[in-house]
Amino acid sequence: MFRRVKGTRDILPEEILFWRKTEETCTRIFSSYGYEEIRTPLMEEFSLFCRSLGKTTEVVKKQMFEIKRGSGHLVLRPEATASIVRAYLENRLDRKRGLAKFYYVGAMFRAERQQKGRLRQFHHLGVEAIGSNSPNLDIEIISLLNRLVKELNIEGYQIYINSLGCIKDKQVLAKILRYKITPYLDNLCADCKRRFKQNVFRILDCKKPECMRIVNKLELGTDHLCDSCKKHLESVLAGLDTLGIGYKFEPALVRGLDYYTRTIFEIKHPRLGSQDALGAGGRYDNLVAEFGGPELGAIGFALGEERLLLAQSRQPQPQEPRLVTYLITLGEEADKAGVKLLDKLREQGIASDMDYTEGRSLKGKMRRADELGVRLTVIIGEDELKKGTVTLKDMVSGKQEEVKIDEVTRRLKCYEPIRAES
Ligand SMILES: [Zn+2]
Ligand SMILES: [Zn+2]
Repeated sequence: MFRRVKGTRDILPEEILFWRKTEETCTRIFSSYGYEEIRTPLMEEFSLFCRSLGKTTEVVKKQMFEIKRGSGHLVLRPEATASIVRAYLENRLDRKRGLAKFYYVGAMFRAERQQKGRLRQFHHLGVEAIGSNSPNLDIEIISLLNRLVKELNIEGYQIYINSLGCIKDKQVLAKILRYKITPYLDNLCADCKRRFKQNVFRILDCKKPECMRIVNKLELGTDHLCDSCKKHLESVLAGLDTLGIGYKFEPALVRGLDYYTRTIFEIKHPRLGSQDALGAGGRYDNLVAEFGGPELGAIGFALGEERLLLAQSRQPQPQEPRLVTYLITLGEEADKAGVKLLDKLREQGIASDMDYTEGRSLKGKMRRADELGVRLTVIIGEDELKKGTVTLKDMVSGKQEEVKIDEVTRRLKCYEPIRAES
């Protein structure tokens, strides 16, 4: 027997309702905030992510699913921001409108370490707003994130915010970090010793207890921010206060990808443990220009769909409309008449199905109709066939009646499917 690829999951029909409900809620809210859906390919050039996420980031170094064909070097996308900025520029959307607001839903791929129990194909629900440096956009994005999580009935979450500042400020921050970490250098884990030279920000993200203890002692603040970035941050925080959105300012918060600037944020939930966030995002004010476009501010976030499902405190009970009718036929001739009637019912938009199981008794077929929760069962036996009728059994009242076969469609049209019990 074949098995699924490690780190992937099958989402079965009984589970898919929760996925759909989550996606429907999110996309409804995205639309109501003026975001439009965009779908980019699952495959992109390797260089796209190398350039945007950063050569020394964990994702690019260790987690990309690479596809080499001929001279091409492709990857399965590990995230969507870089793809969306690429699409934005390639389709010249910068010329067509001022601020462009996109949302997306889809699979991402990262070769995560297996022992962490993380998925290698996972799903993101996210937004990107490209074309503005206004702090009001940061406020909108964070309040949108907050609203989504609330609407999904997730409680007990916490939003963390920090500002990395502009590119210059990030360089200052790197200097401050190196200066403050130097006395503890010998006590860092092996990875962090390497990060100290290559990408000092990543030390703040290390989950090793010895490194976390050091990070806690650093007493970071906002000294690295220039006046303009400081003002931006103040406006964002004041705006969130006005809207009554709770957050915690966390100077040790960094993001694992290089393109982030200024406002960054993360939303955590206790159900996921300390290592994982429900979602995260931030500004990437230099990425559009870096990709060859104009200087445009941009900000976005992504939520992990699997994690959203895990964190939902009262799992929603989505209800799938069931079938209206189920056809049960007895004998070969009745089968033929049944297939014909089924087609007619479906043509009329009446949700119907028929039992194709070979050798199942009438009792077995009735039991199946019960399990499916249908409104009416249509029985065609030899007797009925001779008379040109069918027996309709009302599965709620249990009453039966004989109806002319030509009359069935008209009779069934007024029935709604029964909703599944929650
Ligand atoms: Zn700055
Ligand atoms: Zn470390």
